Amino acid sequence: MQNIIIAIDGYSSTGKSTIAKQLAKTLGYVYVDTGAMYRAVTLYAMQNNYISQENFNTSDFVMQLDNINLSFKFNVSLGFAEIYLNGNNVEKEIRTMEVSSFVSTVSTIPEVRQQLVKLQREIGKNSGVVMDGRDIGTVVFPEAELKLFITASPEIRAERRYKELISRGDNVVYDEVLKNVNERDYIDSHRKNSPLKKAEDAIEIDNSNLSLDEQFAKIVYLVKMILKDHE
Ligand code: C5P
Repeated sequence: MQNIIIAIDGYSSTGKSTIAKQLAKTLGYVYVDTGAMYRAVTLYAMQNNYISQENFNTSDFVMQLDNINLSFKFNVSLGFAEIYLNGNNVEKEIRTMEVSSFVSTVSTIPEVRQQLVKLQREIGKNSGVVMDGRDIGTVVFPEAELKLFITASPEIRAERRYKELISRGDNVVYDEVLKNVNERDYIDSHRKNSPLKKAEDAIEIDNSNLSLDEQFAKIVYLVKMILKDHE
């Protein structure tokens, strides 16, 4: 079977990573969560006091980006690769509301994007890959054979994220989650460098009223069509 690149972009909390993980598992492809990479870089900035509510010391932060080492290790029991920041598994820490509140700001920095895009291209270059993020179909892999752009209403997305955070035991308020989803959408789609937008050749899927199974069936159908074309 031909290996292809599947780029999944879209707004925050549209369930991109759930789709991407399931698809990678079904196809035996590598799954790369690029949001986790931006989140891990943000966690590093927080842990080393480069960013706080009051201040973001961008120039000092950029100067030591080379000290940030990111890697993925496959977790057999979970069925996907977890992210490591300088050797530590940070999969849980990067999903907090605090990280979410800073990550879009950190993601506007061109030097951060340049470094992460380079790494993403390296990880994806030799294999079948499913990569999810904001700029995969437009910047990272514009040549991807299949590009999906996932949307859903902000309220539905916030509710899904809220339930996810509550089920992890996080103490969050729905209105704050909704505010964060809207803020991230705004920053992500208005930044100068690789803003979130639908690639011209991407297929848009609004999953506001789709079940996970319906959505997955739709996407598997699209993948099969592409693979057939590449036979
Ligand atoms: O996908 P996730 O919601 O975890 O991404 C967190 C944030 O990382 C996004 O809101 C966005 O600011 C940034 N991001 C990005 N480019 C990507 C992936 C994520 O700017 N390819």
